Amino acid sequence: MGDTVLETRGLSRRFGRRVAVDGLDLAVPRGSVFAFLGPNGAGKTTTIRMALGLIRASSGEVRLLGEPMPRGRLRALARTGALVESPSLYPHLSGRENLEATRRMLRVDRGRIDACLRLVGLQDDAKRLVKRYSLGMKQRLGLALALLGEPELLVLDEPTNGLDPGGIREMRELIRRLPAESGVTVFLSSHLLPEVEQTATHLAVVHKGRLRFQGTIEDLRARRAARLEVVVDDAARAAAALDARGIASEATSSRMLIAVDETEAARVNALLVGAGVGVSRLAMEAATLEAMFFEMTGGEEGAS
Ligand code: ATP
Repeated sequence: MGDTVLETRGLSRRFGRRVAVDGLDLAVPRGSVFAFLGPNGAGKTTTIRMALGLIRASSGEVRLLGEPMPRGRLRALARTGALVESPSLYPHLSGRENLEATRRMLRVDRGRIDACLRLVGLQDDAKRLVKRYSLGMKQRLGLALALLGEPELLVLDEPTNGLDPGGIREMRELIRRLPAESGVTVFLSSHLLPEVEQTATHLAVVHKGRLRFQGTIEDLRARRAARLEVVVDDAARAAAALDARGIASEATSSRMLIAVDETEAARVNALLVGAGVGVSRLAMEAATLEAMFFEMTGGEEGAS
């Protein structure tokens, strides 16, 4: 499993009777920007806290950089950078001094400070006091702190939360560049698909603690393409006719159905007409990724 930096198997966590995370199987490939997506309350933070060994799982397993958690926590966390809540910064120190304090604790090379400042674009503001930083700058300094120890994996919980549009754009660009510039794998959570659509190579969608989708952005796009929307006079009969020919479908109303994994409109049309079903419209479903996310998460996307 050398190519999987974070792996969970059947990971679950209950709080009293509430199931926050329910049998999650995640596999985060090395070198990816992996977005962990879901509406508020989906279980993202709870999963991240278990992945980092901050809380125990009720059942299931986590391997972080090959180490079983929480047992291998010390070894795994030494190779992981995390920004899980707002970073704890010293407001009366400069950006550079904040980095210096952590550098001493981690005992990393002094040259690493400049490298990290450059990575997050704070080299020109390094001498300013952190209390004068904007929220976006503080967040980038938090990222620089997480990168100081040259981690193999960077875990970011909602890294753009609370930032203004400019700050969001900066953070997004930064995250996109990181794997190439520093070789780090990025695992980040978000409740907004558009925020990670341009950045992530892989994504997992979680809703009510359960995994709804896991794969590359291309996998998700391909899934979107292979859906044919058919308007008929009798959706139940049409579904039965398609089923008899091995074509899966879902009736979405009495007159409309979606043929899943199907792109051959002409074949579906011939088949339905042959079975005596009246077809009034056939269209490739032009759902946006966002609409798919909306569907997978029960229409709660963007709720905050
Ligand atoms: P958000 O984007 O709001 O942080 P999330 O996807 O990170 O959402 P979690 O914070 O993991 O979701 O919460 C998942 C569920 O578990 C929620 O219903 C939440 O109320 C519950 N929960 C989380 N932590 C606790 C806790 N310490 N005690 C009780 N319930 C909790």
